[in-house]
Amino acid sequence: MSPIDSILGIPGLVVQRVDRGQEIHVWASPQGRPACVHCQHGSVRIKATYQRLLKHTRQGNQLMVLHLSVPKYHCPQCHRYFRHPFAGIRPRLRATETYRLEVFEAHEGGVSQRKLTMTHQIGSATVERWYQSYVRQRVSELSGRTCPQIIGIDEHFFSRRHGYATTLVDLKNHKVFDVVLGRSEPSLRRYLRHLPGREKVKVVVMDLSESYRRIVQKYFPGAQIVTDRFHVVRLINHHMLKLWQLQDPVGRKHRGLLSLMRRHPWKLTDEQKDRLDQYLDAFPVLKAIYIAKQHLMRFILLKTVKAKRAKRLLPRSLELIQQLENSPARSLAETIRSWLVPIVRMWRFSKSNGITEGFHTKMEMISRRAFGFRNFENYRMRVLALCGWSGMINRV
Ligand SMILES: [Zn+2]
Repeated sequence: MSPIDSILGIPGLVVQRVDRGQEIHVWASPQGRPACVHCQHGSVRIKATYQRLLKHTRQGNQLMVLHLSVPKYHCPQCHRYFRHPFAGIRPRLRATETYRLEVFEAHEGGVSQRKLTMTHQIGSATVERWYQSYVRQRVSELSGRTCPQIIGIDEHFFSRRHGYATTLVDLKNHKVFDVVLGRSEPSLRRYLRHLPGREKVKVVVMDLSESYRRIVQKYFPGAQIVTDRFHVVRLINHHMLKLWQLQDPVGRKHRGLLSLMRRHPWKLTDEQKDRLDQYLDAFPVLKAIYIAKQHLMRFILLKTVKAKRAKRLLPRSLELIQQLENSPARSLAETIRSWLVPIVRMWRFSKSNGITEGFHTKMEMISRRAFGFRNFENYRMRVLALCGWSGMINRV
């Protein structure tokens, strides 16, 4: 590639003249004649030459305008006409693909339409049109995919009118696979029934939601459910606080104590430990609950455990759950028992729905930037284009 080629980014051009004023004007023409596009005949005749004016890229803060000579050819063999084909320039458009991509990426990165009308000398409607066209292109590249084998499933709030939506995340490739309106089985039924590759799903990560569990069992028959660690820990903390409220409503309101109770014991300083012990000594029942909770947490936080060790650990954790069942923490123990298998699978499986939660934050930003979406399909397109895709456009 010659330096000129790399400046222009469009191969096969000869630069005739460059004029650097307020804008950079470049006059260029094709290097050679192509074979006939209809019959591949080698030598074609130039019938006429047209001028095309194209906005190309911005070099520094100068806009580059391309004055392109486009020959129209005649083929002596098949007697048909055609125009010179350029890589990266589509027919009839007044900007190159590089330029359109530049605008799309700037707008996606948060540069406003108004700003782009000044830097790129296009109307705000054009920014919107180009943006939409890339979004559609990305989504069409994504359509017809089969369901990934390791997915995370979670709900998020869409709008007051439409309520919640369900997110399916490809946990292996860190991509949003799809968003579907609704979070109950009847509202997801139609989508899930027609989801290609759902029989091959191996692992589904989710929070402790009964309705999602039933959905997964029904529509992903080969999948193992794994709970999300964050949600399990939150559940335990939630129960813990409720029990504490019953035991000592005054102490529960104390912010310093709250912080001590919530922390992992190995993150406390000696001084803090003493303070906590002093407090707990006054409430023997609470102390017992606290100790049991710490044991439970140790099991919950285990990860990348080898199968052999997991087998050894299992009876001990069962014993602990049994103890909890005979304590004030019975309802917690019951929930954990009903989710025991998915919880224990966390020991072996390292993925969590942290990625999913991260995407929810990003999706909220998308929604915020558009001042909310009325139409779910538009929202879905936007989410898939921005979260479901590798971020590289295959240039033609
Ligand atoms: Zn021909």
